[in-house]
Amino acid sequence: MTVEHESIEFDVLIVGGGPAGLASAIRLMQLAQEKNIELEVALIEKGAEIGTHAISGAILKPQSISELIPDHKEKGCPIEMVVRGDEFYYLTRNKALALPMTPKYMHNTGCYVVSASRLCRWLGNIAEEMGVNIFPGFDGKQVLYGADGRTIVGVRTGDKGLDKDGSPKGNFEPGIDLLAKVTIFAEGARGSLVKSMAEPLGLYAGKQPEVYETGIKEVIQLPEGDTYFSTSRGNDIHVMGYPLGLGTPGGGFIYEMAENKVGIGYLTALCYEDPALDPYDMFIHFKRHPFVAKIIKGGKVVEQGARTVPTGGYYTLPKLAVAGGLMVGACAQLHNTPALKGMHIGIQSGMLAAQAVVDALAEEDVSVNGLQTYVDALEKSWVKAEMWEGRNCAQALAKKGIAKLIHLGAQYITGGRGIVDPMPLEADADTLKPLSAKTDATEEKQGYDGELYVDKLTGVYLSKTIHREDQPSHLIIHDMQVCSEQCYPKFGSPCTVFCPGEVYELELDETTGKAHIKINASNCFHCKTCDVKDPFNNISWTCPEGGEGPGYTMV
Ligand SMILES: Cc1cc2nc3c(=O)[nH]c(=O)nc-3n(C[C@H](O)[C@H](O)[C@H](O)COP(=O)(O)OP(=O)(O)OC[C@H]3O[C@@H](n4cnc5c(N)ncnc54)[C@H](O)[C@@H]3O)c2cc1C
Ligand code: SF4
Repeated sequence: MTVEHESIEFDVLIVGGGPAGLASAIRLMQLAQEKNIELEVALIEKGAEIGTHAISGAILKPQSISELIPDHKEKGCPIEMVVRGDEFYYLTRNKALALPMTPKYMHNTGCYVVSASRLCRWLGNIAEEMGVNIFPGFDGKQVLYGADGRTIVGVRTGDKGLDKDGSPKGNFEPGIDLLAKVTIFAEGARGSLVKSMAEPLGLYAGKQPEVYETGIKEVIQLPEGDTYFSTSRGNDIHVMGYPLGLGTPGGGFIYEMAENKVGIGYLTALCYEDPALDPYDMFIHFKRHPFVAKIIKGGKVVEQGARTVPTGGYYTLPKLAVAGGLMVGACAQLHNTPALKGMHIGIQSGMLAAQAVVDALAEEDVSVNGLQTYVDALEKSWVKAEMWEGRNCAQALAKKGIAKLIHLGAQYITGGRGIVDPMPLEADADTLKPLSAKTDATEEKQGYDGELYVDKLTGVYLSKTIHREDQPSHLIIHDMQVCSEQCYPKFGSPCTVFCPGEVYELELDETTGKAHIKINASNCFHCKTCDVKDPFNNISWTCPEGGEGPGYTMV
């Protein structure tokens, strides 16, 4: 069947309504107003509304939001709390040891605790009031190239109304070709369009591999009355140690939120080696630690979500400018790994991209050279300085035991250079050891009470994730034979373990003993862990029909 795709033209198209994409949109409109020029800007977001796919910790360093919207407080920026002090602990199995000093990256006093979902909704409203054409419920499915096959001319959105086999139903609506002079990609970690461009445009040629951590985050409503934070020294708590110890990198956080709530989360680096390790299980172990359990006692989980974070740092940055396109925020690996912060960098990169786009349009040059001013500006900004200092951090964290501490210590006192610069980095898909290599961390599974400690499927329910069942699976297993003949025998099908949504289900044929993986795509958080960690790169995450997925409001 030949399908006609309607096309609509804009000056600038932004893909993704997270902090980076929305900052680009707002800055573009500010510049248009300042220069008195007409600018047609469109922003598409795969979530049903702006904010429904936004998840973060989240401590927001105020510098970039203050530059973007100086009167953000007067304009009602949804700040949950201002950080009044930091607490940093090393957890043993039963104890929390207060560390004598908090690393400088984690000095958050004066920063804002925010909900990424609420922040994005607020930014989205501002962008819309300024004249940005915001299209929630539309996913960018395919990058459109010009006649030279290299210049980006826009993005095709996904078809709507396909049945399970990909045939159009009665309500079928073909995707729309959104054409633009410049497209800004702001898809967040492991963007599917950016991934599709990586090979044809050589985005990562000569770079270290992208690496990620998976974070599970919850908002917990605490009971009425005094809480830990009524008397505590700090209201942002970071921990390292238990349950991962000094092997696999990772750690937890607890942030005080308004209305007696806390944001609590645990990140596990995807360079882990044990195929039986489950990041969700690590999160529950962390919550059950006596120190943490005391803080959240009597509480109830009101929302849950999951997402990957790009932690590779400066040496993993892709080409940030290509002909007709720019990459901003987490889809471009822009993240401060030692500080566990990316929102302020995402916002700043969005603002710098906007400036470069306006300049390139004025010069009528959207070639790589014309857009290079974005890369130059980023290199001269504090974004580069922050990322440069953390350039070997993920590499050092991936070391084990005392070696990890020695490398981190050396980097701390040498501004990131450390003992080896650059330190090598291994792709997350390559780090698994065969099944027998178990760590202590995975031995005991945790019980759930359905209120404060919820199982994975309850977590999916609490994320308000919805996908229409009758559509092609947006999770693609390229070769099921690899699952049954290689992955199951060697690694025990880790996708059935690491996925926080229990999307992958192991089915064993009783007679042949062969493994088959059933995909429950409707549970998917869009965290992208499977796209990163599958040891055979046999799984691809693609966008489902626009408007589906999580329905976050608080995380
Ligand atoms: C558990 C956790 C804790 C964190 N803690 C902190 C913290 O305390 N402080 C901090 O600063 N940072 C923190 N981060 C990192 C921070 O969340 C990210 O750096 C930030 O969200 C990146 O912003 P972004 O706009 O680039 O991407 P995102 O916030 O991921 O937004 C991308 C948006 O694009 C949409 N999208 C993606 N692909 C498409 C497509 N093809 N078509 C249409 N729409 C699309 C997505 O739905 C999403 O809304 C944390 C992250 C996690 C997961
Ligand atoms: S299927 Fe993949 S992207 Fe979806 S929740 Fe599971 S691991 Fe995350």
